[in-house]
Amino acid sequence: MRLYDTLKRELNELKPIDGDTFGFYCCGPTVYGPAHIGNFRTFVVQDVFRRVLELGGVATKHVRNLTDVDDKTIRDSQAAGKTLTDFTRLWTEKFHTDCAALNCLEPHIEPSAVEHIPQQITMIEELIENGHAYAAEDGSVYFKISSYPEYGALSHLEERELDLGRTQEARANNSDEYEKDSVADFVLWKSRRDEDGENFWQSPWGEGRPGWHLECSAMIREYLGDSFDLHSGGEDLVFPHHENEIAQSKCSCGGDFAAHWFHITHLLVDGSKMAKSKGNFYRLEDLIAKGHSAAEVRYTLIGAHYRKQMNFTLSGLHAASEALGKLRKAERALAEKAGVTDADAPSYEELLGLKDLGLFDNAWLGLNEDLNTQRAIGAMFGALKRAQNEDNALVQWKGLHFILHALGVQLPEIVEDASVEIPQEIQKLAEQRWEARAAKDWAKSDELRDELKAQGWIVKDGKDGWSVSEL
Ligand code: AMP
Ligand code: ZN
Repeated sequence: MRLYDTLKRELNELKPIDGDTFGFYCCGPTVYGPAHIGNFRTFVVQDVFRRVLELGGVATKHVRNLTDVDDKTIRDSQAAGKTLTDFTRLWTEKFHTDCAALNCLEPHIEPSAVEHIPQQITMIEELIENGHAYAAEDGSVYFKISSYPEYGALSHLEERELDLGRTQEARANNSDEYEKDSVADFVLWKSRRDEDGENFWQSPWGEGRPGWHLECSAMIREYLGDSFDLHSGGEDLVFPHHENEIAQSKCSCGGDFAAHWFHITHLLVDGSKMAKSKGNFYRLEDLIAKGHSAAEVRYTLIGAHYRKQMNFTLSGLHAASEALGKLRKAERALAEKAGVTDADAPSYEELLGLKDLGLFDNAWLGLNEDLNTQRAIGAMFGALKRAQNEDNALVQWKGLHFILHALGVQLPEIVEDASVEIPQEIQKLAEQRWEARAAKDWAKSDELRDELKAQGWIVKDGKDGWSVSEL
């Protein structure tokens, strides 16, 4: 498989350094509220990445952390009147439920920052000893950027017009919420402040807690070692989070750190950045309440190549619903021709050993060339069109299942008549009806059902969404 590397700015052939298992680390969620669908673009793309490696015969070790201590988790746990542990446990469970609904494989290891305080303290001690960090009077410890001349290689700092002069000063950035273009010594250990409440640990520098960037470096060292295969996150993490990780790890452990950097472009909603204030902020549950399924959300999130900007819209979700319906119909037709049913669907072991993907090899090539999900989906539909005219229906049907597994796409249970275009006003009425139903406004829901009927459409309620068909 070839993948674009943010650091080298070229496609790299991926091979495990140890010749056996491909170890990779994904920066995980900050568990202070439900993850939004932007976060899930990143996590779903990382999931497809892992599936493609594994189906290609490469064993993986997938480590994804939980950020369960930082400014936001502390602030919001206090506002909720809960202990940090209880509060972050709640949002961790919610995150797991959403990941499962989106058909994401569980990482092999999911370490949390709070569970690795001693490892973080050890790393700071080493950095101080090596002259890369210093303690301030208040007991906070900072990484000294001027001690690491390679700082900024990943984000190509030298090409950006930043005030590099400031790196020479100890202009301490004491916040987890980083400023985009501030290059400054960053905090490794934050001395205890009143607003931290009971959330502090003992250290050689007094009571306090680790800075946000440090946890990933410490957990990577623990689970993947000083040199490992790949590191991933959303594009916002390139600077400064990943730059800081590189600096901390290389200056303490001395290894090569990540051999490859894989960043996912941010998801936009209705053409702009997702923000609660703009009303374009969606969580999975918001979309389910609007009558969409998690499978549609996943399908939408992988609809564009991960390096392209992607614009999320509700009408895009409807298109996903239609595409999944069409996919199911075509899959059924192929299965009938091959004389098989759902019960015969190939097991994972069988997929692993599959040599002949039939017409679907083009889709597989797309996935192996910079994880081009967009190209793979296009090629899959192209292959489906032609597969009906081939003699080897069973080979084609298995090839299709191979690609579906690689994409993590689950086909809908109910076959809708996807060939019928649903007019926008009908979609709108059905959506309003689903919302009325969710709000238990039965009178309005019935009224809207009658309205749809009067216009020649019948609405059906599924487990997690609506569907309409012509009367
Ligand atoms: P957080 O919970 O904020 O630490 O973010 C979890 C992951 O989601 C990180 O890899 C972020 O880079 C990523 N992320 C945040 N916002 C977006 C977005 N709008 N689109 C894609 N990925 C995002
Ligand atoms: Zn990280």
